[in-house]
Amino acid sequence: MRDFSIARRRMVEGQVINRGVKDRRVIDAMLKVPRHKFVEEALEGQAYQDAPLPIGEKQTISQPYMVAVMSEALVLNGSETVLEVGTGSGYQAAVLALLADRVFSLERIPSLARRARKVLDECGFSKVNIRVADGTHGWQDMAPFDAIVVTAGAPEVPQDYLDQLTVGGRLIIPVGNRNDQILMRITRTGEQEYQEEQMLGCRFVPLIGNHGWQSKH
Ligand code: SAM
Repeated sequence: MRDFSIARRRMVEGQVINRGVKDRRVIDAMLKVPRHKFVEEALEGQAYQDAPLPIGEKQTISQPYMVAVMSEALVLNGSETVLEVGTGSGYQAAVLALLADRVFSLERIPSLARRARKVLDECGFSKVNIRVADGTHGWQDMAPFDAIVVTAGAPEVPQDYLDQLTVGGRLIIPVGNRNDQILMRITRTGEQEYQEEQMLGCRFVPLIGNHGWQSKH
């Protein structure tokens, strides 16, 4: 069995810390989660590179830096209930499991959800709850959430996410067109008040669903 701990440390130092991510809990989480387990075996050797990678079904595991930035932007202290939309490989969910109390994750493609479930269990992240559903409605039964992270690009911010945030809660979501987006942080500052921040340009696969893009097939 290959030891990836040196590659993982290099990834965190070179791609995360050197680019300005400071949250010690995020850094420690990314030092712990075995990213190579979340990609296909043939791609294991590339798991710590500075890039997204294919995970099948035309979807990707996000670039490590993007996972770090999104996780830091959620401002988690360990007590929170968090919703992720877009389980994909399960890697971001594993990082969240080390940063928050309860983690819920929605994935629209059943085969990806099944594989993520298996890997998360094998790696000791059974506390992550996964559901196969159109995540553009959020997860009403488990709301409210202290933090919501959307890992696919949306044409606009679905109202359900705003409604399902606690007051003080943070939503991180890429918003834009199908090919590139701006990563936004929206904080619920009151019952009807929200504050918006634009963070950085990004490129995610599309959020497909009732309040997202239409599927092309
Ligand atoms: N967070 C993932 C990881 O760590 O591997 C990366 C996610 S990938 C960039 C985006 C994921 O969002 C894909 O798996 C895609 O199937 C999923 N997705 C797209 N639209 C969705 C929707 N409406 N509800 C749930 N998942 C959706």
